[in-house]
Amino acid sequence: MLNIIICGAPGSGKGTQSQLIVDKYGLQHFSTGDLLRNEIATGSDFGKQIDAIISKGNLVPDDIMLHLIDKYIDNLPADCKGVIFDGYPRTVKQAEELERLLEKKGEKSVMIDLWVQEEELIARLLNRGKTSGRSDDNLETIKKRLEVFHTTTKPVCVYYHTLHKYHAVDGSGTVEEIFARIDAILKSCC
Ligand code: ADP
Repeated sequence: MLNIIICGAPGSGKGTQSQLIVDKYGLQHFSTGDLLRNEIATGSDFGKQIDAIISKGNLVPDDIMLHLIDKYIDNLPADCKGVIFDGYPRTVKQAEELERLLEKKGEKSVMIDLWVQEEELIARLLNRGKTSGRSDDNLETIKKRLEVFHTTTKPVCVYYHTLHKYHAVDGSGTVEEIFARIDAILKSCC
């Protein structure tokens, strides 16, 4: 199996590039942001609690996320070619749990970290906010999300670096140019 962890700040293009990787390599797409937004869309009490967290730009607590990942890995189909983890892990605790679960299955993983300048990230997210309908695509929440990314999620990149599984990718340019950079890494290391 090919397990790819796609990391990057909000607006770095994780979702777009994940879809291209899924199309080319036939992987399962595990997007925690989509999963959480689907839960919000059901209107459940749990969804309302999640919405209150996400719309402020904070992270959903680890215990909830660890439960989601455990369930997801447990239910992977036997013929799964691999998974692209988009938006997970976002804390070192989540990363340790993911690595533990993959190791238990005898699975390997690799991290792709998309690098984009902060001004470009903010411009992309504000532009997306015009049509996305996402409660977190406004300037105040974007700034909070970027702060959370630097303080809590960047250490996840360091963690993968120490495991020698880390690859930084320039996330600027056209969608095709960025995908070509990712694809070259996947071809050389997987
Ligand atoms: P982005 O990368 O643009 O911020 P996502 O769709 O990946 O967008 O995530 C949206 C929000 O969902 C995050 O700001 C956070 O509140 C919540 N979220 C997503 N993944 C996780 C996770 N692994 N741990 C905690 N919260 C998460």
